[in-house]
Amino acid sequence: MLRNDTLDQWDRENLFHPSTHLAQHARGEAPSRIVETGSGVYIEDRNGTKLLDAFAGLYCVNVGYGRSEISDAIAEQAKKLAYYHSYVGHGTEASITLSKMILDRAPANMSKVYFGLGGSDANETNIKLVWYYNNILGRPEKKKIISRWRGYHGSGLMTGSLTGLELFHKKFDLPLAQVLHTEAPYYFRRPDTAMSEADFVAHCAAELEAMIEREGPETIAAFIGEPALGTGGLVPPPQGYWEAIQPILKKHDILLIADEVVTGFGRLGSMFGSEHYNIEADIITIAKGLTSAYAPLSGSIVSDKVWKILEQGTDENGPIGHGWTYSAHPIGAAAGIANLELVDSLGLVKNATAMGTYMKAALQDALGDHPNVGDIRGEGLLMAVELVEDRSARTFFDPARKIGPTLAGELLKHGVISRAMPQGDILGFAPPLCINQAEIDTVVRATKAAIDAVLPD
Ligand code: PMP
Repeated sequence: MLRNDTLDQWDRENLFHPSTHLAQHARGEAPSRIVETGSGVYIEDRNGTKLLDAFAGLYCVNVGYGRSEISDAIAEQAKKLAYYHSYVGHGTEASITLSKMILDRAPANMSKVYFGLGGSDANETNIKLVWYYNNILGRPEKKKIISRWRGYHGSGLMTGSLTGLELFHKKFDLPLAQVLHTEAPYYFRRPDTAMSEADFVAHCAAELEAMIEREGPETIAAFIGEPALGTGGLVPPPQGYWEAIQPILKKHDILLIADEVVTGFGRLGSMFGSEHYNIEADIITIAKGLTSAYAPLSGSIVSDKVWKILEQGTDENGPIGHGWTYSAHPIGAAAGIANLELVDSLGLVKNATAMGTYMKAALQDALGDHPNVGDIRGEGLLMAVELVEDRSARTFFDPARKIGPTLAGELLKHGVISRAMPQGDILGFAPPLCINQAEIDTVVRATKAAIDAVLPD
């Protein structure tokens, strides 16, 4: 076995880490950790430090770590057939079975699944399908995509553009010209504190409609949104948001892409966020919870309405010119089947509701009166604590103070992994959906201790 200091050195010399301060990492100044094993909600690193992972990796290890049902399924598939492609009508038992399992769980208007590898490439596929759709319909000018500020849809060229966070645009020459951003459905950060929730929803809807009219509805192809905002702040939508947005899109014949990379397969306490908020999407993006990250796999679930036009396109033009070598990879598909079976047999969707309710109440009890805790919010097991400088004036800390990252660092000292969300002082929690009350108590105790240490009242 390699020594830790050798691995540390090789890491700094050879591995280009995503979303990392490259210079600090190379100098050995940035936080780093070599993770070795995982079981249930815990991971353990090479130094023997055991941590309760209250963010499930990157909110993806929904069934928890160390599930042999999934690793066995992966091993069996790898031995039988590690790979075959899915071009020109080829498939495997695993990929075909998983597509059926997904559609059995998806909203009724959904028709087919196109498989990819991660959330970013699935959203790239979605935008290409939307453009193809409008070209087939003879509307070549209907191509712009509306996303929201603080939305997260990936970090490719198009998907990094759709992402509404400055860090993902800065110095990358993004966003691309076809992408527009509208108001984030983030009631706590509403532009005017006097607005009621209903006023704010009306404001979001009016902003959207004004944008569509300004640009010309004949130029807008689709709207993309996460049912509940993820990386942009972990924010459930204000009451009535989706009810207000959808008729505007329908009126202007704009497709709706529900990005369910985080919310798909139980995170909010429903199988899909679309079901949770009565969203009738034309395309749904899935990834993370599809395999609980045991293997890379994503999907674009396409509705009947979209599928019919795509079919017509190939009758006119020949096979669709879009494919990845690893689309419907059998190992990913085998992981997906075993994972969805576990989600059902362990009752994880129900557990997300029960444990989410418990956790929100426990955070409220522990922190509700703290003068720097501005908002405790969540739906199912997607939860956030937002810190403010002054609660009654709702003023935020200077970002240079790095309150969020400091708090996440403090939680680690108490053995708990949370996530400092990238924009604002927002401490995020999205634990494996198998978490129990005792484990939640540990997370809440650690959060209180960290906040009391960093922000004594
Ligand atoms: N969409 C959403 C809602 C996401 O949260 C993410 C990843 N956090 C993505 C897309 C991109 O997925 P990936 O990182 O697998 O490309």
